[in-house]
Amino acid sequence: YNKLSINNDFTEYGVITTGLGGNYYLENAGDLEVKPSHLHIGVYPVPVDLIKKLTDRVRQVIVIEEGYPFVERMMKGILSTSIPVHGKLDRSVPPAGELNPENVRSAIGLEPKAVKGDVPDLPARPPQLCKGCPHTDTFTALNHAVADFTESIVTSDIGCYALGALPPLSAIETLLCMGASVGMARGASEAGRKNVVATIGDSTFLHSGITALVDAASTNTDMTLIIMDNSTTAMTGMQDTIVSSPRIKDIVLACGVEPEHLVEIKALHKHDAENTAIIKKEIEYHGLSVIIALRECIHIVGKK
Ligand code: SF4
Repeated sequence: YNKLSINNDFTEYGVITTGLGGNYYLENAGDLEVKPSHLHIGVYPVPVDLIKKLTDRVRQVIVIEEGYPFVERMMKGILSTSIPVHGKLDRSVPPAGELNPENVRSAIGLEPKAVKGDVPDLPARPPQLCKGCPHTDTFTALNHAVADFTESIVTSDIGCYALGALPPLSAIETLLCMGASVGMARGASEAGRKNVVATIGDSTFLHSGITALVDAASTNTDMTLIIMDNSTTAMTGMQDTIVSSPRIKDIVLACGVEPEHLVEIKALHKHDAENTAIIKKEIEYHGLSVIIALRECIHIVGKK
């Protein structure tokens, strides 16, 4: 996973990449007059021996990595000679935002590629939930339910369902950090907002939604929590959820939610009218209610 290619005939500089930075570098490296020595780090721990093999042969090194300058910061402790290290810390690579082929191209000293011809105005294609996604049916029913109220607020969380913020669903109004939907809904309700709904996925609920639900249950906060249970951790690559669907109900009850205001619905379009009515009824209840919207992510159907 860690690939080192050495060019003993070129010592001006070497390149170290991690993650997607490696792809962007290779996309542009063919335009360099001479290919420098290159180490791509594919797995951690950081391969100190390989870094030394590269840096012992060059007069400076460029580090291209996504996110935090993790490898770059380690270089001072690894280098046996004090050669200059270029990267995010000296802004040779943009310290903020994502890497892309253009900014990596510039980091290795290449001119931007000329754009051929006129680029037509292309229609925007914002990301969407997959066709057939259970969250679409839950959001559709939720939209129908809140349409009957003159005032409402819907908070949300981190997961595929964050895409519910975009048209055509435009179902959610807040998106902050994992577990925030429940606490924000409680705060909004306590501050006097009416018809407050929080939406959260099963994995995010288990990760950091439970504590806020215990808090809301302790005061029977007037809000409705919808746990969108797709039986997987879809957004990060379909990892198994740490607690299976039937046990989420037990956890909700253990948090102090009244059993008569814990309802399960099946997130299917054909149940839209029934689901809309259930969501509306629980929003109208002046206390805490939890709805668990059940349906597997379409990508794991039949695979468990
Ligand atoms: S991966 Fe699964 S949960 Fe995520 S948008 Fe697609 S169908 Fe929905």
